[in-house]
Formats: sequence, C-alpha cells, structure tokens
Amino acid sequence: MTRVANFSAGPSVLPVSVLERAQKELLNYNGTGMSVMEMSHRSQDFQEIMEEAEALLRELLKIPDNFHVLFLQGGASLQFSMVPFNLLTTNHKADYIMTGSWAKKAIAEASKLGDITIITPTNPLTEIPSYNQESFQFDADYVHITTNNTIEGTRFSELPNTGTIPLVADMSSHILSEEIDVNQFGLIYAGAQKNLGPAGVTVVIVREDLTNKAFTSCPTMLNYQTYVKNQSLFNTPPTFAIYIMKMVLEWIKELGGVTVIEQQNKKKAKWLYDTIDQSKLFNNHVHPKNRSIMNIPFTADCEDLNKEFLQKADEKGLKNLKGHRSVGGMRASLYNAMPFEDVKKLTDFIKEFERTYQ
Ligand code: PMP
Repeated sequence: MTRVANFSAGPSVLPVSVLERAQKELLNYNGTGMSVMEMSHRSQDFQEIMEEAEALLRELLKIPDNFHVLFLQGGASLQFSMVPFNLLTTNHKADYIMTGSWAKKAIAEASKLGDITIITPTNPLTEIPSYNQESFQFDADYVHITTNNTIEGTRFSELPNTGTIPLVADMSSHILSEEIDVNQFGLIYAGAQKNLGPAGVTVVIVREDLTNKAFTSCPTMLNYQTYVKNQSLFNTPPTFAIYIMKMVLEWIKELGGVTVIEQQNKKKAKWLYDTIDQSKLFNNHVHPKNRSIMNIPFTADCEDLNKEFLQKADEKGLKNLKGHRSVGGMRASLYNAMPFEDVKKLTDFIKEFERTYQ
C-alpha cells in the first residue's frame, strides 16, 4: 500500500485507521450482512450511528444543551443561504466581515435576502483586526465571520465581541482543530470534507432560540426547524458520510480530544512556518497572529520556481500543494489527520529544494 502525503484543501486526508475500519465493515456492518450504504436511514443500526455521532461531537466540542446539532446536506455553500433565510428575519440587516473568497460568497447570498453591511479589514489577505460592539450595527440580526480562511490562510485569533448580537461562524476549514467556546456563537456551520470526514454532510450547531425565526416563505428543506423537529431525518441524510464522520470523531476522542489535536496541529504548523520563515526563497505574508494552523500558503517571488517546486514535490509524492488560483504559489493544508511524518517530508523537501535552486 502506498499512501502519498496529501496536502489537499478539501476533500482531504482522513485517518488511515478510519479508512481501514470502513474497508473492513464495508460488506457486513455489525453483523447485519450489509453495508451502511445499503441500510435504511430509519434502521436501528443507522439510528445508533447518528446518535453516537451527535454525542461525540457534543462531547468533543462541549456543546451546551441549549444548542442543536444538525446534520444537513448542500455543503457550507448552502449555509450561505440557509443562515439568512433563518436569521435575517427581524430587522433584515446583518454585518459580514469580509476576510476572503468564502466570506464573499456568503455575502453574495445574504445580500439577496436583506441589507448586508460589509466590514472589510484594511489588509484582508494578511491581517484580521479585532472588533468590538461599536464595529457593528446595534440592530443587526447577526454578525457573520469566516473563522478560518481556507484560501488566504488567515484565521481569527480573537473573536469579535458582538454583545447580544448572535455571532454566526463558517468553521468549515478548522472545526475541531482547536478548542472553542460554543457559547460565544449563535450558530456554527462546517462542511465535513476537511476535519470531520468525507464530503456530503454539513454540520450545523445552532442555539435553540435561533431555530424558529425563519421567513414564513422559507422552503421546508431550508428551515432549521425542519431538522430540529425530525432529528435531521426529515429526508434521507447522507448516511455513509455520517458513518465515516462518526469514526473520525471516535479517532479524535481516542487521541485525547480537541486539546491534544490542537497541540499537534500547532506543532505541525510551527514546523512549516519556521521552515518558510527561515527560507530565502519562500514567503508567507500573513501576520503571525492571524496565521492559520490549517491552511498555509507560501510562494516564491518567481513564478517559474513555484512551478518547478510543485512539479518536483509531486514527483516525490507530496501531492496537492498547488495554491488556490486566486492566490497562486503553494498551499499546504495540514488538517487534523495530516501525519507528522508527511509535514516533515514537506519541510525537508523545502530545504532540499532551496539548497538546489538558491
Ligand atoms: N467555507 C469555507 C471556509 C470553505 O473552505 C469552503 C470549501 N472549501 C466552503 C465554505 C464551501 O464548502 P462546500 O464546498 O462544502 O459548499
């Protein structure tokens, strides 16, 4: 078996032990004689998988009882619409902090449904300033942030203080990578395909009082209340993705939970940032306080060198390092399941490349 070092931004690397278990259980899950893919979403076996997945997520993120955990479909992109359909309903105003490409897409959808005020940091690609209550409209229905910006490689090191205005966060690219206090948010959403499992399931963690505010014209499938009332089983959920996610959550718990994962992630990210900072060829321009520990872009000044690096890295089994087309250069995504050895391979390769091309 040859596994490559997979630095993909998503879908991305999964724990080998989870893949092996899925393989082992593929034809016959728990003595049922069928795969999880083949069983009814209303069967006892699948119900248990759903319940365990929710319980594990609650335990790992210490989710308080007044929050619902919902398993939805449509990716984080559908949340760009669901959030305003459900929350932009009192004063029809919201504030969005514009920190990159995904925030821009969220703004585009919300703007179709209400009055959106866009707050743009002075240097959105490199720095996220702190915000306090005065930064926001007092009568906003919510404030939306993208806590980790997958493409730009930035992260909120400090959450905005929004007072009583609910804070809504797109955590797609770093959920479960570090400790958070769920009580600081009104709603959190994340597509699964980075830190939670395969693509197909979207997790929403939403405070009880925010689940019954939807526009009356809101389509049933876009109304959080539909999923609250039906325990995320209004229609057929993405059963196999939820099953894999449950095993990923078990894997995190066995490792020691989010505190341990956070330490590991910070260590892996530090190795790479230190290597880039010591390099004379490559740079990362993000302010140290806002550097993402999940997505790390780096570039050489010369485009030919970037190309050469990517080609040589690929030949060495260091895959999917090409930066997003809007940023260029390279991007290494070091999600929870990224092995230490693979980060080491990358830092060694950067040093080796530098010796050859400097
Ligand atoms: N938000 C962020 C921060 C993302 O990184 C992504 C996907 N890369 C999305 C939203 C969109 O997610 P999806 O493809 O699940 O709709």
